[in-house]
Amino acid sequence: MIKKILLFLLIPFLSFTQDIDDLFSERGEIYFSFEYNNKNQLNEISDIVSVDHKTNSELAYAYANKKEFSEFLKLDIEYKIIKKEILNYTNTTKNNWNYYPTYSEYTDMMQAFADSFPDICKLHHLGTLSSGREILIVQISGNVGQKENEPSFLYTSSMHGDELAGYILSLRLIDYILNGYNNNPKLTELVNEIDIWINPLANPDGAYHGGNQDVWSAIRYNANWVDLNRNYPDPEDGQHPDGNPWQDETFIFMGLADTVNFTISANMHGGAEVCNYPWDTWSTLTADDSWWKYVSHEYADSCQQNSGNGYFNYLNDGITNGWDWYEIDGGRQDYMNYFRYCREFTLELSDDKTPNPNDLPTLWDANHPSLLNYLEQSLFGIRGIITDSITGIPLKAKVQILGHDIDSSHVYSSLPIGNYHRYIIQGNYNLTFSKNGYYSKTINATILNNNTIVNDIQLVPVGTTTDIIENYPPEEDAIIFDLLGRPSNKKGIQISDKGTILIIE
Ligand SMILES: [Zn+2]
Repeated sequence: MIKKILLFLLIPFLSFTQDIDDLFSERGEIYFSFEYNNKNQLNEISDIVSVDHKTNSELAYAYANKKEFSEFLKLDIEYKIIKKEILNYTNTTKNNWNYYPTYSEYTDMMQAFADSFPDICKLHHLGTLSSGREILIVQISGNVGQKENEPSFLYTSSMHGDELAGYILSLRLIDYILNGYNNNPKLTELVNEIDIWINPLANPDGAYHGGNQDVWSAIRYNANWVDLNRNYPDPEDGQHPDGNPWQDETFIFMGLADTVNFTISANMHGGAEVCNYPWDTWSTLTADDSWWKYVSHEYADSCQQNSGNGYFNYLNDGITNGWDWYEIDGGRQDYMNYFRYCREFTLELSDDKTPNPNDLPTLWDANHPSLLNYLEQSLFGIRGIITDSITGIPLKAKVQILGHDIDSSHVYSSLPIGNYHRYIIQGNYNLTFSKNGYYSKTINATILNNNTIVNDIQLVPVGTTTDIIENYPPEEDAIIFDLLGRPSNKKGIQISDKGTILIIE
């Protein structure tokens, strides 16, 4: 069992005598607990304050800034303020990943990964916050930076600045993968076959709130006292479910998700030990509920096997539907699933949000086989490349499973390769591929768990056989192909990249 450290002092207060200005005199967020009557009441309160991962069936835990807490007080619910202690762990020895780096050690480490493994690792500076701290991400792949027929995979951690197990596990995972390349066949295969992105620290201002030298005064929110995991567009509650403008960190991540078409991802948090799969915002199950349960159990089971008794077995043996635990509006998981057509779940890695650094190696032992399994899941399912049947040009097309897909669970192929990746529980499915200007095509596929079926699809342009234009040259930007799809500027019957047949004289 992972050693539990008492992080918080419970100090009871009577709710009506507390002066709100006093409460927020030292920091812009407070942590508190309260009893709730039923799930509906908790969900209503979750619209007002930031309900926390420590919440269980009897007691809710929550964070609030001053504005949020003023709203909560109107409900007249008794609460207890939980005074957050400044941690006083010391990093005496810095080896075997049993420590939290200083901020500059972190940035140096990220740079060193790219410098030491330039063939397979790139460092991207996604953006600089007004504090001067940066959001950094490394990209790892064979031919890194070159678009290939690969799924794009994302690990990101610690958007709640005080949930830091995943910060260190992410750094160690990068180090492990890079050093394993060409040494460990499994890791070599993962690097060669997947476009891997890892962002160890999504909220550096929260983690280093007390200064760049250590994380002992880390906070959940960002520097503006906004919960970043309530700040995303929500499938049900609109663009700004928390009433705050998008924060810089949110803009940076939405920009990343727009640029890289991630097919699968995980968002690392802490405060519990459980896999939380979509949706968070509503009770409807996803189309791929069975697949989510499968991959979540795969994650939890392997953690249990690689640790002592009692780790990663919270709720339903280490997994839970998000809404079933407690509702979240504006969370990143739902944003990625609903708006980016990506499969993202949330990993709650440790009961202690900021674990004793001496416990970090044990957490690594428990989690790293699971982290690699989930990476490997990105290669499974139904995949292929979608092209124009005549020109061979890759297409961005919609991949939909009739009688199965709901609530934005369809996916798209992405350019410039035209590759699609549809993760799904084993079974037999009819997949329809469609794009404006093309005839739709439906195929039947049978897939087994942890297996891959490749179906490359050629879509036939509408009007190909009849739409003959005799005037040449066509639009200046058109690329001309011969009938075998090879770029061409010869005379005779040719085809433009718009799918038009041209007779060139
Ligand atoms: Zn969290």
